[in-house]
Amino acid sequence: ENVIEIKNLKKSYDNGNIKALNGIDLTVKKGEFISIMGPSGSGKSTLLNMIGALDTADEGMIKVAGIDLMKAKKLNLFRSQEIGFVFQMHNLIPNLSVIENVEIPMYETKANSSEMRERALELLKSVNLEKKIDQKPTKLSGGERQRVAIARALVNHPSIILADEPTGSLDSKTGEVILDLLKELHTKENVTLVMVTHEPYVGNMAERLVTVLDGKCKTDEKLR
Ligand code: ADP
Ligand code: ADP
Repeated sequence: ENVIEIKNLKKSYDNGNIKALNGIDLTVKKGEFISIMGPSGSGKSTLLNMIGALDTADEGMIKVAGIDLMKAKKLNLFRSQEIGFVFQMHNLIPNLSVIENVEIPMYETKANSSEMRERALELLKSVNLEKKIDQKPTKLSGGERQRVAIARALVNHPSIILADEPTGSLDSKTGEVILDLLKELHTKENVTLVMVTHEPYVGNMAERLVTVLDGKCKTDEKLR
């Protein structure tokens, strides 16, 4: 079962002067763990933004979790139900506590406040942050913040997690902890994990490695 289907996807910026995506073809099966690598400016973030419906493509085909994103309306609902974002740009809200940050995506669902609290707590336990639930994110280390972001990404049982440089600003030991956690949750929840990274050792931990160059998929390799 394909959870992501992309054909000849194109996206340009600056009135067509910058071709960020220049005919991407990519199919991802449910439950796969893939990493996307490539030089800076090759289109990785743009591709992730398209998959998460944070931006729209110019032409081509993109279907995610059965939804045709070239046609779909109600993208807020799609995002909150199907996608968990672990983006450095998608920061935590500083004046909310850790647990309140994790609850945010659930406001788009029908969950009531006690269900929200219970689910957020369950996830925060699974990332070993139950002692920090009432802290503000500013009091946490980089690794702890990334664990909060992962808990938040998983809270609505998404079918796909999109992670942009999840180990980026972390030291290698903390990065390893984050990666192990992502892998464990990917296995346990059978969620599809798509990760952009520029660190080869991180990229090589995936089951499949796709490289992107000049807005196209250049190589696609099964690693395990
Ligand atoms: P990567 O993530 O591989 O570094 P990006 O997807 O961020 O690459 O960028 C691909 C190209 O598109 C780059 O040339 C970048 O400068 C450009 N680009 C990305 N987003 C925008 C934007 N919002 N406006 C203008 N140019 C952009
Ligand atoms: P990454 O480190 O993943 O390559 P970038 O620094 O390329 O990230 O991009 C971060 C964000 O800035 C992206 O979401 C992209 O849309 C935006 N961006 C990238 N390049 C440009 C640009 N030339 N003009 C405007 N926005 C850009």
